[in-house]
Amino acid sequence: MLSFEFATASKIIFGAGKLNGLEDQLKGRAKRLLLVRGKSSDAIPRVREILSAQDIPFTEFEVHGEPTVDMVREGVRAAEGCDMVIGLGGGSVLDAGKAISALATNSGDIFDYLEVIGKGQPLLNASLTYIAIPTTAGTGTEVTRNAVIESPEHGVKVSLRSPLMLPSLALVDPELTYALPPAVTASSGLDALTQLIEPFVSVKANPMTDAICREGICHAVGSLRRAYHNGADPQRSAREGMALASLFGGLAMANAALGAVHGFAGPLGGMLHAPHGAICARLLPLVMEANLKALESRQGGHAAIRRYTEIAQIITGDTNASAQDGMKWVSDLAIELNIPPLSAHGMNESHIPEAVEKTMKASSTKGNPIVLNEKELGDVLVMAL
Ligand SMILES: [Zn+2]
Repeated sequence: MLSFEFATASKIIFGAGKLNGLEDQLKGRAKRLLLVRGKSSDAIPRVREILSAQDIPFTEFEVHGEPTVDMVREGVRAAEGCDMVIGLGGGSVLDAGKAISALATNSGDIFDYLEVIGKGQPLLNASLTYIAIPTTAGTGTEVTRNAVIESPEHGVKVSLRSPLMLPSLALVDPELTYALPPAVTASSGLDALTQLIEPFVSVKANPMTDAICREGICHAVGSLRRAYHNGADPQRSAREGMALASLFGGLAMANAALGAVHGFAGPLGGMLHAPHGAICARLLPLVMEANLKALESRQGGHAAIRRYTEIAQIITGDTNASAQDGMKWVSDLAIELNIPPLSAHGMNESHIPEAVEKTMKASSTKGNPIVLNEKELGDVLVMAL
């Protein structure tokens, strides 16, 4: 019997130039605001101007790199007295803002609520009103209900997760991504593609996420090469396509599940301090290959094989394409986009046993269409080095 739930940010506004509409969203809603932002983005001075024009007092909180437990604690202190938070930046910034908004209204320490390494208690109070404005195209975190936080002490990245963490508004303006450098376009774009492929073959796939994944994969496939090679394309349609793919990936992963690529990404991100997108980009074709091999050898009639075949047909535009053709296409794309091996992030064979052990416990791994054993997971990492 079919059953599923679907949740997203209270409101999504999408379109080039829509940042200008932020003003209308703020009117009379904020008395004091925390602006959680990255280091540099053309959008920062524009948001400052909008806040000043509205006479909204605000404090700024800068996020360097991916959020850690200490950074979130510091952000919660900065949010004291605020009734609204804006997150403006890439996935790390948006996740930091999301976690700060949630913990600002829930007493105790972040470890009371973190999964895997914390107590995993549920959040009880609604988050501060949170407006998420992405400046990269990949994570889709503006519409998800978790924030990925690193605990350097445990050497792992884990989630703070709650239905109460969905942003109040996701404002997705593709204009903010026009100036992204090619390497960021590549890794974040392949993360978006991963977040469309993994939910589509996951154990929690459902008709709503399926529709979103099919459409999102089309946009990613039609746009990623162009956005990488010519991000300043005067037509800008490639940037718009990737912003849409990222948003759809977020919607899909928040309402289905992910898989082994993201299962690896948490532990490896914590162990290597490598960007999330770079890890996913490297692992996507290798996990597709491992999954297909395992499915074909152990569960020949599994529905995920048909789903991988459908992905291949969408990607290649060839109705006769096989699942292997899809995997090859993704692998070729990663090469064309100059995705470096994991050894470039300092990984070597000695990291593999610990990474595999942690991956087997990761929440995303449970969404994988088939349970990969220790050897299969280890083999993926050997190839990724
Ligand atoms: Zn991801």
